[in-house]
Order: sequence, then C-alpha cells, then structure tokens
Amino acid sequence: MKKGWAAVSDFDGTVTLRDVGDHLLLHYGFADKKTIEESYSLKVKVEDFMKRAFAGAALSEKTIADFVRKEVRTRPGFRQFILFCEASGVPFEIASGGVDLYADPFFKKHGVKVKSFFGRARVVKGGIRITYPFLRRTNLSDFKASRVARFQRAGRRVVFFGDGPNDFKAACLADKVYAAGRLLRLCRERGVPAEQLRSYARAADFIKKNS
Ligand SMILES: [Mg+2]
Repeated sequence: MKKGWAAVSDFDGTVTLRDVGDHLLLHYGFADKKTIEESYSLKVKVEDFMKRAFAGAALSEKTIADFVRKEVRTRPGFRQFILFCEASGVPFEIASGGVDLYADPFFKKHGVKVKSFFGRARVVKGGIRITYPFLRRTNLSDFKASRVARFQRAGRRVVFFGDGPNDFKAACLADKVYAAGRLLRLCRERGVPAEQLRSYARAADFIKKNS
C-alpha cells in the first residue's frame, strides 16, 4: 500500500523564474553572461561555481534582501502549492545549490516556512563565503537524487521540480517530473518523461487526481 506522494523541488529558476544567484551576480556586475553560461555545463559542479563566483561579490545582507523583495519573481502557484501540501500531508522540501542569504528573505516575503537545504553564505571582507553543510561526502546533483530516493524508500511516490542539468539525476528517479529550461531540454534529449513546468498548480491537480 503506497503512502501517497512527496514533493522535492529545486529553488533557483524553479521556485523563482530566474536563477537568483546568477541574477544577483549579473545585476551587480560580479559575473558576465559567458561565465554564467559555462557554469551550466554538466561537468561543472554548481556548488563549486557558487563558491568561486560569490567569493568576490561584495554585497551586503541588506542589498541582497532588498534585491529579493524588488527583483525576484516567483513561479505561479508556489505559495498555494505549499499550503496544499501542508493540508494534504504531502511532505515538501527544497534541495538547492543556492544560499540562505537570498532564500531567507524570499520565504519571509511569502510568509511560508518550507523544509529546505541551502548553502550557508556569510558576508566577509570583499565578498561572500559559501559552505554547504549538507554536502559532506556527496555533490549537489547526487544529493538531490538522494532526497527523492529517500522518500521512495519510505513508500512514497515523488514529484520533482527542476530546471538545471544538476537536477537531472533526481528527475531520472522521480515518479513525476515538472521541468523548465535546460532540464526540460535534457529530459527530452535523453527520453526521460517530463512535463513542462509552468505553474505549481498543475502539480497539485496531478497529486489530487493520482492519490
Ligand atoms: Mg535551478
């Protein structure tokens, strides 16, 4: 007997319409488009890119929080989906290579609390130091897949949401995939079933119909 569904989501470019880290780096001139583009190669570890890119990004906590409030746009249906999951007993978590410095103000803005894994960012002289306490012996891509596998071992089916190449392993394991951007293209190229992610509302309907 199945225990029902769980949901695991990427954050940048998935919960938000643009990658917040990339957007910040570009907006304040700490990275150029070419560098950002290269960071999406399957060979580049997102966590390594983030550490390197933010090391020289002299941004204050307040600048980042203001940026999140003013510039970051949220994918439709996100808040309602969280409320739906809470009301329906669907565990929902976010696994992200992004950082708490922008995730915390984001969730505060929406008035929601979500179980989540983000990098820890600290403002230091001349930049931002990032660590990933949850990635001890693994990388981000495998970590995301492991969160999906963990729910499946517990007898649940898993909906996964993502947009990047580092979401691909998790997408391969998930029972239902909503994908945007590079992940959607990758799934199509490699024959992994995925539906285009537009709004989180579609996923709530899907879970209701398939429970
Ligand atoms: Mg992403």
